[in-house]
Amino acid sequence: MASFKAVRALARLRPVAVSRAATIAPPSSSPAAIQHIHHRRTYASKKHPQGFEAPSTADLAELRERVQEFVRREITEEVASHTDRSNAFPNDMWPKLGEAGFLGMTADEEVGGLAMGYQAHCIVMEELSRASGSIALSYAAHSQLCVNQLQLNGSATQKEKFLPGLIAGTKIGALAMSESGAGSDVVSMRTTAKKVDGGYVLNGTKMWITNGPDADVVVVYAKTRPDAGSKGITAFIVDAKAEGFSCARKLDKMGMRGSNTGELVFESVFVPDEHVLGAVDGGVRVLMEGLDLERLVLSAGPLGLMQASLDVALPFTHQRKQFGSPIAHNQLVQGKLADMYTKLQAARAYTYATARAVDEEGTIRTQDCAGAILYAAERATECALDCIQLLGGMGYVEEMPASRILRE
Ligand SMILES: Cc1cc2nc3c(=O)[nH]c(=O)nc-3n(C[C@H](O)[C@H](O)[C@H](O)COP(=O)(O)OP(=O)(O)OC[C@H]3O[C@@H](n4cnc5c(N)ncnc54)[C@H](O)[C@@H]3O)c2cc1C
Repeated sequence: MASFKAVRALARLRPVAVSRAATIAPPSSSPAAIQHIHHRRTYASKKHPQGFEAPSTADLAELRERVQEFVRREITEEVASHTDRSNAFPNDMWPKLGEAGFLGMTADEEVGGLAMGYQAHCIVMEELSRASGSIALSYAAHSQLCVNQLQLNGSATQKEKFLPGLIAGTKIGALAMSESGAGSDVVSMRTTAKKVDGGYVLNGTKMWITNGPDADVVVVYAKTRPDAGSKGITAFIVDAKAEGFSCARKLDKMGMRGSNTGELVFESVFVPDEHVLGAVDGGVRVLMEGLDLERLVLSAGPLGLMQASLDVALPFTHQRKQFGSPIAHNQLVQGKLADMYTKLQAARAYTYATARAVDEEGTIRTQDCAGAILYAAERATECALDCIQLLGGMGYVEEMPASRILRE
């Protein structure tokens, strides 16, 4: 069972004092063995909580098993398909994810996080996406875009105030950067934040905001100096209960249905000084550094979707008989399956190598965070198309998850 305590205990492993006993390697699967491995792995990075220790391969394998157990129990194909058809997020999922410990993978233990780092966060993202791309997208918008931005840039007071609820899953988080006129060119955003006594007043609209319709806490970027380009943007923590804040509409998307995406409106929303995230006019650094890690963790989404395509195509092609034998006995079918598997493994290697460099060396390579999501996303689309082809007519109906996987 993916209990919160068990995962937390795994994350809390600390080096043991070196003694004669500790130098004798215990059996490989025991907690003592994990502790033994952990003893040799202590790394520091400003992108991790203080005292962070990179998890070992065994820690990560154990975490993956626990996420898989959680998914088997909580995100069945029925839940995934209902979320897609209804285009509504199952909001009871938030406290369940919180109880399992998954909402604070990279956050401080003091505020309820697991402090396990980015490889671990990718594992949770991959396994949730394998079950439902849309539930996983909302998960990442909460746990990475919102929680991790607060973890990296929040003051101690801000973390104490906002993170426990977000990590427990009693509050829902989002991040609002994009606008209808400012997408790729995000720095051209037009939402303004005007200084007033005791805080700032925000005016403008934000588009495409994942979890926007449900959010309690939103990290918002706005122009504090509209004429200063990238040097005039500031990040704010906005309480969705603030007067003047609203969600104008929920978007009806092709895929990721049920990951609620909204257009947010700010009509003279007052944000107190103490809710400025990072430095005033220093929002672009917060935004750009955040984007690297967001791309990295989100690149695990397409990994899960590729695995999902294989999960559907492999048994189907072995069971479906034509011309007197399973279709998987044909070389062309085997070639497609081999391509799907190889693409998944290559993309997985890229994502996890990039995440390992962050956890073990504190190195964030912007080009690799972007490369990992570019590569994984394109390969996932190809795998989903192959999956549909391999299923023949069954790939074209909603009885099977193939079309949902392609749309996600
Ligand atoms: C499901 C979903 C969830 C999202 N969640 C969030 C969220 O939680 N928070 C948030 O802030 N945003 C979110 N976004 C917004 C997302 O970040 C933007 O969609 C993205 O930045 C692209 O912006 P755009 O849609 O305006 O496209 P545009 O920037 O208008 O791009 C349109 C096309 O032009 C191309 N293009 C643009 N500029 C160039 C150029 N210089 N050279 C060549 N080609 C170019 C693009 O590659 C694209 O193909 C989400 C989007 C989606 C679809």
